[in-house]
Amino acid sequence: MVVVMSPDATDEDIARVVSRVEGVGGEAFVSKGVVRTIIGLVGDIESFHHLNLRTLRGVADVHRISDPYKLVSRQHHAERSTVWVGPEGRRVPIGPDSFTFLAGPCAVESAEQTVEAARMAQSAGATILRGGAFKPRTSPYAFQGLGVAGLEILAGVREATGMPVVTEVVDARDVPVVAEYADMLQIGTRNAANFGLLQAVGEAGKPVLLKRGMNATIEEWLMAAEYVAQRGNLDIVLCERGIRTFEPSTRNTLDISAVPVVQATSHLPIIIDPSHAAGRKDLVVPLARAGIAVGADGVIVDVHPKPEVALCDGPQALLGNDLRELAQAVRKLPKVVGRVDAGTMIR
Ligand code: PEP
Ligand code: MN
Repeated sequence: MVVVMSPDATDEDIARVVSRVEGVGGEAFVSKGVVRTIIGLVGDIESFHHLNLRTLRGVADVHRISDPYKLVSRQHHAERSTVWVGPEGRRVPIGPDSFTFLAGPCAVESAEQTVEAARMAQSAGATILRGGAFKPRTSPYAFQGLGVAGLEILAGVREATGMPVVTEVVDARDVPVVAEYADMLQIGTRNAANFGLLQAVGEAGKPVLLKRGMNATIEEWLMAAEYVAQRGNLDIVLCERGIRTFEPSTRNTLDISAVPVVQATSHLPIIIDPSHAAGRKDLVVPLARAGIAVGADGVIVDVHPKPEVALCDGPQALLGNDLRELAQAVRKLPKVVGRVDAGTMIR
């Protein structure tokens, strides 16, 4: 941390800062310039926060120089991590060497619809099945998902297809039952700052897919990941799914730059969700291509055998030619950026 003194700060003001810092066991290195003095602090950053140094006379500004998150930071773990999803023998990697394709219906509506969507996803090259059993809807009158019956359907489709399953959990009370059925627990954008839920999934013993809060900065998102990590679970995959901006032509704005920004600062893998970002199927393939090109570790999309009757997010679901086009992009483009298909690394 660095304390910048104002040009009119006196020696007494400087001595006060130094003595407060030393009082909590820190060290203060004073550097006097022609106009200003700056003081470099070394020690426990949390105890410096409690000093409220900004309120002291003569202090102009206080800057943090290390990341506020620790466990998810590359300062803690320099190499980028790979998270493995699924049971022994069917574990799919999500990480820096591979490219992982996840697909499935937005919501589990029936066994037939889910198995059909899973077959479509698998034939397009997807290796992890997505599907919501607990749906966090903006309207309380909208379809809320089949709950535990939906989890049972997902478990059945996992057996039929061999694909590990990722599904959302929206309430800390449901974490044990979702963890019993799913291979990976998803935290959706609306719950990305639900700290009790983040702690609960951190204790569930399953990998976590943490979507970015639609209003969250990258730092807030990584702090949310830190809540999970702090409970002992570092198997976290981040998912950029679009943020709220002033632009109304898409549902959200896919923040493509979040991918390299996150990779520079955190060791966690990061995938993109062009379906929930755009809310429109015609944009899913171009955005997926952009995600691959920018270096994302995977892509997750909605597919549905009959989007026109889907109970949730039909307009963004792929099938037919659109899905074939996506399959082609996912087969070809990752190689160009030095990635191998995660499907070839299953173990
Ligand atoms: C989802 O993936 O089903 C979902 C609801 O996504 P998000 O939380 O990104 O809106
Ligand atoms: Mn959806």
